Amino acid sequence: MLRLYNTLTRVKEAFQPVHPGEVRIYTCGPTVYNYAHIGNFRTFVFEDLMRRYLSYKGYRIIQVMNLTDVDDRTIGGARQAKTSLSEYVKSYSQAFFEDLRTLNIQPAEYYPAATDHIPEMVALITRLLERGYAYQAGGSVYFKVDAFPEYGKLSHLEDRQLQAGASGRVDADEYEKEDVRDFALWKGWTEADGDVYWETELGKGRPGWHIECSAMAMKYLETPIDIHAGGVDLIFPHHENEIAQSEGATGQLFVQHWVHCQHLLVDNQKMSKSLGNFFTLRDMLKQGYKARAIRYSLLSTHYRQAQNFTLDGVTAAEAAVQRLQELMVNLPTADGADTSVDGLIRLAVQQFEAGMDDDLNISLGLAAIFEFVRDANRLLAEGRLSRENAQAVLLTMRQFDRVLGLLDQEETAIDPEVERLAQEREQARKRRDFATADRLRAQITALGYVIEDTPRGPRLKRQ
Ligand SMILES: [Zn+2]
Repeated sequence: MLRLYNTLTRVKEAFQPVHPGEVRIYTCGPTVYNYAHIGNFRTFVFEDLMRRYLSYKGYRIIQVMNLTDVDDRTIGGARQAKTSLSEYVKSYSQAFFEDLRTLNIQPAEYYPAATDHIPEMVALITRLLERGYAYQAGGSVYFKVDAFPEYGKLSHLEDRQLQAGASGRVDADEYEKEDVRDFALWKGWTEADGDVYWETELGKGRPGWHIECSAMAMKYLETPIDIHAGGVDLIFPHHENEIAQSEGATGQLFVQHWVHCQHLLVDNQKMSKSLGNFFTLRDMLKQGYKARAIRYSLLSTHYRQAQNFTLDGVTAAEAAVQRLQELMVNLPTADGADTSVDGLIRLAVQQFEAGMDDDLNISLGLAAIFEFVRDANRLLAEGRLSRENAQAVLLTMRQFDRVLGLLDQEETAIDPEVERLAQEREQARKRRDFATADRLRAQITALGYVIEDTPRGPRLKRQ
């Protein structure tokens, strides 16, 4: 049974989704105003690890990751670049998806963009107005913090800070805890917005950042959502405000389980352009670091600990991945004695799962895998591994890699749907129904895979 820390209750809880066998996850996506940096990717890689482990445990996953393509920062960026908002965010969204693929992050089921959901946001704000949780002022609409007594329950605000919120309003999307105030749901147009506005029944303007996530989360996922995740910097005000908006509008629990990934430091310092320790994924690849080493480095620290990212650490990560890869390459050469590996495999799987079940403790998970690799290497070196047992070890490694996502992708990450099509095609070929076989092959190609017919049967590869 997976136990997962919940920021809301501040304890590790037994994880139980609302619908057995299915996990609905909302993960706050990027603000597409520049290239995401490795600190952002620490969170996205962690969320991928969580997704993969839940799917390893047999859950069907429905994940939504939004794209913030209209907010203070994107508008500011477009204005500075003297280009339209849609033109400005387009290249950064594309870059983001490329980066996800580079890091072998499994795609979410939905990637809604904020600008495609303005009517949903207006409807949600209207509901908040009707229910007395919001009010209009100066062309904007604000959430009335005092009307929602549970405000502060996620970030555990003290009463003192809450009282300060009784007066005043805040228009900016981002602000500090000291600034607990009524926050903007809808921002009336100002000159700084330029040509970015929508004419709606709320007036001419644009949504606040926080309402975007509430509207998109509730459009694609039934509430309560099983897991809502993001970086710790989103706890306040973003997630606190999401709770207030969503629960204010529905009167029901918004999210069961809040999961937050800690900060990433570079050489023990906060990343900043002025310190010269600010890395995007692209910078690192240009310097010759491998994507899989960066992925390993980002996922190998437990998500509730601050991570100190160093270039030496990435070099060490590459060595670790190579160690895993080497075993995978060497196993098929085994031709030794028939020493039972059943106990070894059982122990490794059990220790791996025990670690991961304990709040996704990847350190314990990796320790179990590397102990298994060491033992398997020893058996191999001593000629005590038969071909059949080597195959069992290989399959176990692939099982682990379904969660880690580090090794040869073409061998490990075949879409089950594609696998099913390939089997159907093989059956069609056997009964000499070549028309069907060709049709299935075209379907497989369309999904991004190729089939190589080898003497030992067909083999699937990513294109
Ligand atoms: Zn969000």
